[in-house]
Amino acid sequence: APGIALHGVKFQYAGRSAALDGVSFEAPAGGRTAIVGPSGAGKTTLFALLQRFYEPESGLIKVDGVDIAKMTRAEVRRRIGYVEQDAPALSGTLESNLRYAAPDATDDDLNEVLHATRLTDLVERLPDGLNTMVGTRGVALSGGERQRLAIARALLRRPQVLLMDEATSQLDARNEVALREAVDQAAERCTVLLIAHRLSTVVSADQIVVLERGRVVATGTHDQLLDAS
Ligand code: ADP
Ligand code: ADP
Repeated sequence: APGIALHGVKFQYAGRSAALDGVSFEAPAGGRTAIVGPSGAGKTTLFALLQRFYEPESGLIKVDGVDIAKMTRAEVRRRIGYVEQDAPALSGTLESNLRYAAPDATDDDLNEVLHATRLTDLVERLPDGLNTMVGTRGVALSGGERQRLAIARALLRRPQVLLMDEATSQLDARNEVALREAVDQAAERCTVLLIAHRLSTVVSADQIVVLERGRVVATGTHDQLLDAS
């Protein structure tokens, strides 16, 4: 079964025209599918339905072949991870932040996820240290490092699907590469669905889904979509 399958999903906010109007697509298991589209296209609404914050008016959403409407809330939360980039960092080291997020994770799990997200050398950093200069080590995290910490937090819970709304901030070349590597590593562990804001993500995605006014207007790889246009 595909990692994610949507069949004719419709959703409408009260008193508005349809935010999603018969959306169907499949995201290959263990791949990176990028959602692109202008503001108001329905990207955020799609993510809300995938986390069952709202129920579709009609249509089906399946994760690894299972209808999410038939899962318990707890199952949805466990299976479908959201990369929370704005989660407040706790005082303490990056490592203690991760242990707090997933108390049941073993040292092996932790090390594996640190490696996957290219954070192994940063375990002693203090993620909440934006406004604090501690010593001369540059202990806070850059924007790119914080995004990787958010991915690490989500991956430690071993989801089947990882939802990620990419930040629009500019990253330097090193952070850009590290972030792309972290997303690639995530896709080896689960199905990754990203709201893409970066051209590099769109180019390297296994599949792109183009949304406009609540409808899928194109799907394919970057090269396929270029050829078609
Ligand atoms: P995107 O994330 O692609 O910018 P959204 O999913 O946020 O798109 O929005 C899709 C449509 O639903 C837009 O027309 C938007 O105005 C509308 N919409 C989004 N959230 C709400 C809401 N909470 N209440 C009413 N309408 C909403
Ligand atoms: P980078 O250093 O990876 O190029 P920046 O540090 O410029 O990225 O971060 C991009 C955005 O994220 C900026 O708006 C910045 O204020 C914010 N930001 C960066 N690090 C932190 C942090 N540790 N806590 C909160 N916001 C941060």
